[in-house]
Amino acid sequence: MTKRLVAMKCGLVALVVGLMATAVYFSRHDNQDPLILDDVSRLNQTRVSEIIRPRSEEELKQALERARRLGRKVSIAGKMHSQGGHAFYHDAVHLDMTAFNKVIELSESKKTIRVQSGATWKQVQDHVNPHGLAVAVMQSSNIFTVGGSLSANVHGRDPRYGPVIETVRSFRLLMADGRVVNVSRTENAELFSLVIGGFGLFGVILDVELELTENSVYKKQTVALNYRQYPAYFESHVKNRPDVGIHFGRLSIDPESRLSDGYAVTYTETDERPESVFHLAQEHHISRDKFFFGLSRTKEWGKGLRWRSQQNWVDVPGEVEIVARNNVMRPPIQFLEYDSTDDTDILQEYFIPPASFVEFIDRLRRIVEDEEINLLSVTLRFVPANQEAFLNYARNDCLAVVLYINQQRSADGIQKALRWTQKLVDAAQQCDGTYYLVYQRYPSPAQLRMVYPQIDHFLERKRHYDQNEFFKNRFYEHYAGSITPAIAEEVNQ
Ligand SMILES: Cc1cc2nc3c(=O)[nH]c(=O)nc-3n(C[C@H](O)[C@H](O)[C@H](O)COP(=O)(O)OP(=O)(O)OC[C@H]3O[C@@H](n4cnc5c(N)ncnc54)[C@H](O)[C@@H]3O)c2cc1C
Repeated sequence: MTKRLVAMKCGLVALVVGLMATAVYFSRHDNQDPLILDDVSRLNQTRVSEIIRPRSEEELKQALERARRLGRKVSIAGKMHSQGGHAFYHDAVHLDMTAFNKVIELSESKKTIRVQSGATWKQVQDHVNPHGLAVAVMQSSNIFTVGGSLSANVHGRDPRYGPVIETVRSFRLLMADGRVVNVSRTENAELFSLVIGGFGLFGVILDVELELTENSVYKKQTVALNYRQYPAYFESHVKNRPDVGIHFGRLSIDPESRLSDGYAVTYTETDERPESVFHLAQEHHISRDKFFFGLSRTKEWGKGLRWRSQQNWVDVPGEVEIVARNNVMRPPIQFLEYDSTDDTDILQEYFIPPASFVEFIDRLRRIVEDEEINLLSVTLRFVPANQEAFLNYARNDCLAVVLYINQQRSADGIQKALRWTQKLVDAAQQCDGTYYLVYQRYPSPAQLRMVYPQIDHFLERKRHYDQNEFFKNRFYEHYAGSITPAIAEEVNQ
């Protein structure tokens, strides 16, 4: 009898727990209208009218035709990791490009690859790795699409290359009027500089020919240093060294040494070939890293703990590791996945001339402290100057300061983040730097114009190639409103 009672009680508890788990699951995922989209920051919910996932050029053309017939705008998305509404628009016919992802041609002799724009860098890596080749420029992680990466003109961690535009030979573009055009530095050259870094506003990138490089083997070395030492260290140990394939730095988030202590990680080519060095690695320690990252989100001491653990386990000063390029270019990222209803993580990036780096970090520290910004990571990279893209951000050689920040999702939290972002943009501008356009729409239109004085000319060219603003997104909607007829006229002359 007692046993039966215990069994019944256990059953009841299991049922209640089960129901509670179901309720929690559905409160997070319920009523999720499949037409409501958001990016990875979960701050830009937008309802589209329909989602089309084309697999062929024909289906893409039909999708545009359908949008035209319905009188709707078209938005284009890869993995939706841009964070400012760049990949969707209210009521639009939304193109999810991720099934348009075939590898078309690999040339080992020319070291080039042609892929459809919905392919991810992971797919490219999986395809080229057996041939001893590697991607030349991509983000620090491989989860993004090639089309989304071109449209943001991304940069990576190989200090010998500038933004991805350097490695693009050509692409084909499906335009608002239904034409498909070849675009390269010699054919439709203006579109080459507008589309790369142009956030999907000129048409759908169909396929892209990219330059590849060798899957070199590197010796990884980590050196602890203070932020004041970093520019000189970079200049003497990394810059202009043809054997340095990957380089980045990190600054402390520990309240005891915030934005002061740091370390630099450099991968230098080596002839060593340990067994399995070319096998593509999978992400390990996801739960461990998620746990430490979570602690650093909510606790000041957690920040210190994570900062120290990172140097004990991941980037260990004095330790040497041998690793192939394709594995360096697929670092862990899953541990960052986060779905709290109250808060979220966002990225920001500032491009600062090396001469102003120390001043910028000092200003950044003051703003972080005054505004109590929940800073979770600070990464440093080098981006050599490249003027090819119309909306270029690396006009001179610059040190990129990448910030990973936690913010509240409430209206108040958003307002606060907007305020401190505008202070950071001002700080970057006062240091002759720029900011990356691919993140939140927090900078004011006036700041956008100050940092990107070419923006009105860009918007005018958008309207030249796409008179009815067929391709639209929320980033464009936010900033395009204020182009003045006088500027448009001036530009047209
Ligand atoms: C965790 C994280 C790490 C990041 N790391 C880096 C980094 O190391 N370096 C860096 O430079 N950036 C980095 N970024 C920014 C990232 O590179 C950009 O957000 C990039 O656009 C993401 O690619 P996506 O496939 O998600 O594109 P989406 O966000 O889906 O789209 C971005 C833009 O591309 C357009 N687009 C997409 N596909 C096409 C197409 N086929 N034709 C025309 N337009 C198209 C969209 O309309 C949109 O305007 C990072 C972002 C996150 C969240």
